[in-house]
Amino acid sequence: MQQFKKTVSFSANAVNVFFHILTRCNLSCRHCYINPEQQGSGSLSPEVMEKWLNILKGGHMNANLIFLGGEPTLHPDLADAIKAARKIGYTSITVDTNGYLFHDILEKTTPEEVDFFSFSLDGATRETNDGIRGKGCFETCVSGIRKAKGKGFSTSLIYTVSSLNIHELEKMPFFLEKLPLDRFFIQVIGIRGKSAGPLNRELQVSGEKWLDTVLKTAEKIAGMGIPVSYPKVFLNPNEPFQCAGKAAKNYFVFPNGRVYQCPLCEDFPLHSLEFKEHHLVQTGKINEMDLFGLDIPEGCVMNKLIQPENLDYLSPGVPKYKIACCLLKEEIGPENR
Ligand code: SF4
Ligand code: SF4
Repeated sequence: MQQFKKTVSFSANAVNVFFHILTRCNLSCRHCYINPEQQGSGSLSPEVMEKWLNILKGGHMNANLIFLGGEPTLHPDLADAIKAARKIGYTSITVDTNGYLFHDILEKTTPEEVDFFSFSLDGATRETNDGIRGKGCFETCVSGIRKAKGKGFSTSLIYTVSSLNIHELEKMPFFLEKLPLDRFFIQVIGIRGKSAGPLNRELQVSGEKWLDTVLKTAEKIAGMGIPVSYPKVFLNPNEPFQCAGKAAKNYFVFPNGRVYQCPLCEDFPLHSLEFKEHHLVQTGKINEMDLFGLDIPEGCVMNKLIQPENLDYLSPGVPKYKIACCLLKEEIGPENR
């Protein structure tokens, strides 16, 4: 099968809203990126969700919305928020879920309202996935995908690669033969929430291992007709570096009103925007925006600040690779899309 491969460039003409409507979750994954101390532990009322969605969409013709948590289906008003977002005019709506699909969410929404249900699975086997995400998650997630597909929804899967499961990424193409899936996302373990804690060193994957495994697997899965997206992570010296904070409009919104433009900042009070009495205002203090403008040979400034040990140098001040923005993605898929 002929394949295309491309880097998805940032666009200032679209807005992407990553809307954490609560931070509560029924699971306790070992690498959970949520940090309630920084992001709040409440959940947003339907009125607040609608107001904020209106403000964030603004006049953008192209506005993409991703509902997140915690586990967003634990929010009893998710279905109403989806309907409200459709009315407001969001171009695409995705619900990220761990697969438990609470509150009969598949019965309360339709494939016309939700573009994708995106499931998180971190292993090709029950042992590996449940070792990371908790007992019973593997079966629940797989059955959730089948149920969603059975109701006509498009489904995608997010596989967060860490040292605990990179050995099973290569098994995913065989596993996916049995799953009704429309897209596959590979993520790299971040340094946020629990992954930034004492487990950090244990979870990280070396650059060599990442490069060796990810592209091969992505090509195989794309060869099965399933488009795959994965973070670029490393840039060659001749590739241009861009910070999404400067070149795109991404808003990572949390229940305490904080709005970040860079996900790597979410563990720190570095948000550049916040909701105050239902107005989106600039924070007016030293914040992530002050970092976006810094031009360093290593590429991403936040990466250098929070995980300098991942950088490799040819000589002092000359990095082997630039680290790409964590939001820069590669896409590979069948040519006939
Ligand atoms: S990673 Fe997601 S599913 Fe796992 S505990 Fe955190 S919010 Fe819940
Ligand atoms: S990850 Fe780095 S490059 Fe991307 S928005 Fe954040 S600071 Fe900018």
